[in-house]
Amino acid sequence: MTISLDLTAEGARDALRRAAPAEKPSLIGLTRAELGEALVGAGIVPERQAKMRAQQLWHWMYVRGVSDFAHMFNISKDLRAELDKHFTVARPEIVEEQISADGTRKWLFRFPPRGAGRPVEIETVYIPEEGRGTLCISSQVGCTLTCSFCHTGTQKLVRNLTAEEILAQLLTARDRLGDFPDRDTPDGAIVPAEGRKVSNIVMMGMGEPLYNFEAVKKALLIASDGDGLSLSKRRITLSTSGVVPEIFRTGEEIGVMLAISLHATNDELRDLLVPINKKFPLKELIAACKAYPGLSNAKRITFEYVMLKDVNDSLDDAKALVKLLKGIPAKINLIPFNPWPGTNYQCSDWETIEKFADYINNAGYASPIRTPRGRDILAACGQLKSESERMRKVDRLALEAMMIAGHGEA
Ligand code: SAH
Ligand code: SF4
Repeated sequence: MTISLDLTAEGARDALRRAAPAEKPSLIGLTRAELGEALVGAGIVPERQAKMRAQQLWHWMYVRGVSDFAHMFNISKDLRAELDKHFTVARPEIVEEQISADGTRKWLFRFPPRGAGRPVEIETVYIPEEGRGTLCISSQVGCTLTCSFCHTGTQKLVRNLTAEEILAQLLTARDRLGDFPDRDTPDGAIVPAEGRKVSNIVMMGMGEPLYNFEAVKKALLIASDGDGLSLSKRRITLSTSGVVPEIFRTGEEIGVMLAISLHATNDELRDLLVPINKKFPLKELIAACKAYPGLSNAKRITFEYVMLKDVNDSLDDAKALVKLLKGIPAKINLIPFNPWPGTNYQCSDWETIEKFADYINNAGYASPIRTPRGRDILAACGQLKSESERMRKVDRLALEAMMIAGHGEA
């Protein structure tokens, strides 16, 4: 059964619009120092109080998950009114929320244009499992790279998401799952039996996170801040197609787990599948992986490998993969290819995938095959009204399939 809350209905839409940030700048996504500066700059907090006030707001925004200044009870009424006059901490507009029978949830968010152009829409997916709940987050609208098996690559980049928009995906998911203190989880929701509802995040949605390094860094440092959202960096995985010059910095400056979209074991094929390989070939990519800060058996790199029928799925490919990764503490994540309209690729047969996985397992690698999740809500997307402002239906279908399949092994 699929429960679909269509928020496009007039009344629901208006209510959300009111909640959505108007023209006021958001305080979400600023560093503590920037937060203090913003308050002083607006003339509502004296310089000597900046640090204390920033800390107070930080707690309300990221520990308590408050999205309205009115609920910040230990701040005086007058200051709350001033804050509300100048800033916002509201959530973005949710165009739609869908819930699959297996508990997978998807949100379609709409963000303002940020300058010229139209509002943009992106999706975030939540995948609950026995001991964890993983949120798959987008970093860009579209992608400038053109991996030949990825549908996002056929869309032109609209723009980078801001740190605020990246964090908004996490904050809103936690709101909707009752994952902040004093909040109830919705009746019937499928969530991990214990602990946090969102225990892990993966930067595996739309876009290449390392082409939006600064915003992604800012958002992930806030997500992992111990006095705030407090997600362990071991439970945050960033997936890259191989932007080699930014890989070391990712470990050094962000310190999260790394996933590499490998998909091929020789340059000739990888040039075709993941064209950024022409710029940063395998030799450089593997060297960057070996130099990844903190790499150890306890902190392995995940290598994603999409299973494409008769392209990269032979036993020889499996052997080449094991050879290529020799000496790197690694996990291998085999992703059954998700076809999309117009693609020339097909998913490998199940038997082939199992044989491939067996070889890899015997060579000593954990190589889970991601089981498809939320299939019913993918189907339900067919019921969506595709309008000019909406992401095209085919684009959404392909993106959803990718996010759900590739949500990682973090
Ligand atoms: N742009 C980043 C972020 C991730 S997408 C990156 O490329 O790493 C998450 C994973 O899904 C990536 O490994 C990507 O290569 C893979 N993917 C893309 N399209 C897919 C498809 N149609 N079927 C299966 N996996 C796909
Ligand atoms: Fe972009 Fe990743 Fe898709 Fe490649 S696989 S086009 S990098 S989103």
